[in-house]
Amino acid sequence: MPLYKEQGVVLRAVKLGEADKIITVMTQGSGKVRAVAKGIRKTTSRFGARLEPLTHVSLMVYRGRSSLDTVSQAEIIGSFRAIRGDLGLFAAAETMLEAVDKVAEEHERNVRLFLLLLGGLRALDTGPADPAAVAESFLLKLLSLSGFHPSLRACAVCGRPDPSLFSSGQGGAVCASCAELDAGPVSAEALAYLAGLAGSDLLKAGASAPDPQIRREARPLLFGFAEYHLERRMKSLPILARSLVP
Ligand SMILES: [Zn+2]
Repeated sequence: MPLYKEQGVVLRAVKLGEADKIITVMTQGSGKVRAVAKGIRKTTSRFGARLEPLTHVSLMVYRGRSSLDTVSQAEIIGSFRAIRGDLGLFAAAETMLEAVDKVAEEHERNVRLFLLLLGGLRALDTGPADPAAVAESFLLKLLSLSGFHPSLRACAVCGRPDPSLFSSGQGGAVCASCAELDAGPVSAEALAYLAGLAGSDLLKAGASAPDPQIRREARPLLFGFAEYHLERRMKSLPILARSLVP
């Protein structure tokens, strides 16, 4: 079996049999990789805590015949200690890991997605005042990268400025003449807030203190849009929403 070297972030780990785990890793050069870590649940495991979710690792992996590879060696590059010690930061990080797991393709190189994830986790690890805003900015960037950037400044259908309605299915903000039945009202302030987050540096996204009412309006729009386009419900979004301040 061919052996390859990769670095990546562990997205999740599930039990397999008595002693093993299957880990899912977003790697720099090989896209999403699923691999068996043998003996990882034994107290004497040579992997220890190196393959816990939310760990940046360097791996040696045997390429399997099926979609499942086998981890041969693992070294920690970074473990994001600050995130692990704070529920708000952790909820935001979970959202990032889950969203990446949804959009990444197995063994399909996607360096930009890997770097986005690493950038998002590093931003959270600095302990931003508003971790949820960092996760929201991250989601907007991930949607863009995946070809689903929501229209926020003009009607998604005709391009007219100052749209006053929002429809996930139609691609974001829409004007009254283009809106379909599922479109709901949206304020200019909520759209401007989301556009700000979409363009913000991840390291700065958590520093702003937006009006709570704008926050409350914008957040469900973004989460609804993300779930619609990522096609499945994300378990972590309600947790993230609950962890928010106001
Ligand atoms: Zn229109």
